[in-house]
Amino acid sequence: MIRKVSIFGGYYFFCPTCSDDHIMRILDYNVVNDEPGNAYNPQMHSKAVRTFTMEFKVHCEQCGLNDFVKVSNGGWQGGTYADALRRTGGYAGDR
Ligand SMILES: [Zn+2]
Repeated sequence: MIRKVSIFGGYYFFCPTCSDDHIMRILDYNVVNDEPGNAYNPQMHSKAVRTFTMEFKVHCEQCGLNDFVKVSNGGWQGGTYADALRRTGGYAGDR
């Protein structure tokens, strides 16, 4: 599992293979989907303008691992992390 941390407003992804929190490079991105509106808008006070998924290709310079990280607002985004685990049956993405 690729872990991430936010530093000064940017995200860093750590290699899941290397034991020293080695930071992975983002080599490319792809917009997987991008549509107006959002299925969860009726249930929330805030309104998402669109539903999107972006995929980032990440690479570890130390061990050579290539992987992908997705950022999406297509799933439920509200309440607590424990709420998300209950809604998804135990998986709420990387933390
Ligand atoms: Zn690595």
